[in-house]
Amino acid sequence: MVQRVCILGATGSVGGSTLDVIALHPGRYEVFALTAFQKVDALAALCLQWRPRFAAVGTPAQAAALRTQLQAAGVATEVLHGAQALCDLAAHPEVDSVMAAIVGAAGLPACLAAARAGKRLMLANKEALVVGGRLFMQAVQQGGALLLPIDSEHSAIFQCLPEDRGTWADRIDHIVLTASGGPFRTRDPATLHTVTPDEACAHPNWVMGRKISVDSATMMNKALEVIEARWLFDLAPAQVRVVLHPQSIIHSMVVCRDNSVLAQLGTPDMKVPISVGLEWPGRAASGADALDFLTCKPLTFEPADHGRFPGLGLAYDALAAPEGSTTVLNAANEVAVAAFLAGRVRFTDIHRINAEAVAGLLPTPADAASLDDLLALDQRARRHAQAHAEELTR
Ligand code: NAD
Ligand code: MG
Repeated sequence: MVQRVCILGATGSVGGSTLDVIALHPGRYEVFALTAFQKVDALAALCLQWRPRFAAVGTPAQAAALRTQLQAAGVATEVLHGAQALCDLAAHPEVDSVMAAIVGAAGLPACLAAARAGKRLMLANKEALVVGGRLFMQAVQQGGALLLPIDSEHSAIFQCLPEDRGTWADRIDHIVLTASGGPFRTRDPATLHTVTPDEACAHPNWVMGRKISVDSATMMNKALEVIEARWLFDLAPAQVRVVLHPQSIIHSMVVCRDNSVLAQLGTPDMKVPISVGLEWPGRAASGADALDFLTCKPLTFEPADHGRFPGLGLAYDALAAPEGSTTVLNAANEVAVAAFLAGRVRFTDIHRINAEAVAGLLPTPADAASLDDLLALDQRARRHAQAHAEELTR
């Protein structure tokens, strides 16, 4: 049967790789909806190529511009706009699968809509789980959605576990998320305050959007992934460990109660976890290169250096603090990364902004009760972090 797919964040790195995998299998998927935030021309080009039933952008003006381009090209795609459109498309009765590839907390409402509507939900948007983990997992359960992790580490863990979730708790002693260490693994920490956005985005193993690239350089990406894993696999924070593995060949590991270790390996290419998400429980060509054991570099491991990467510890601090603290951490980090990418604060200020927000803004239970409460907390944390970023601005 043809799978009708909605791709949220189609103009991004994961969105583009998803279309690359789909292109390998003509007739197996129908691209039903594509969304973007600002890149109207890029979305128009995708609509010309894929002829989706719907497309969505951020504002009415962008929607008008997209409509004009599509009409001129004779493409019948219906154009929508705004945050509600993302939710409507994610939950559309004719959609089978949703690729959640929006970056940041902005993706949470549409992820929840897809979960509540019981879709096959391929989750790349890790921030959605960091912001609303408990609510998100409840929505998946109540809606009967099939949640498939796309983050490569979480896909690896998922692939190492049996299909019956009910057996996971008895089986897992802990999991080990691998981390490449990013571009600054060996750089003198005393020089980190001078790094530029382009240096921070030059990841040694992966080509990704700019926000996640900066997160990889601070290792906040791994901090977000610790929180993501806690919710996806229902683990205590102490059961989620991190080891540096600079080659990014082992994508993560499950250590079972008997100390047997299960790992998933492959070349570092997001098309593999995306293909797993699209095909699960089956397997099909992904377009990624095969791993050559005879020519690949030796696999090495190192402890994560918390002095160099203080952000990693914030994941455990936020998980130990009142619920909602991970929402605060994520919001502060989005603000701090944007300020760094805009040249307003230093690389090392990102951690200062994040740490101060988690310590300074303690949520009450009411702050994490519903989606609206969490979104209000997210906004409060953004204002808090923004004020701090302005104090630090050179
Ligand atoms: P990207 O910046 O390349 O693309 C982001 C997409 O989201 C774009 O299509 C953009 O238009 C859309 N978008 C941005 N802000 C939006 C908003 N406010 N409302 C609606 N749409 C919005 O990002 P990416 O690298 O593809 O990452 C996407 C998500 O996947 C992130 O959560 C990231 O952490 C996760 N992820 C990415 C990779 C990777 O290899 N790139 C790997 C693992 C996980
Ligand atoms: Mg990852």
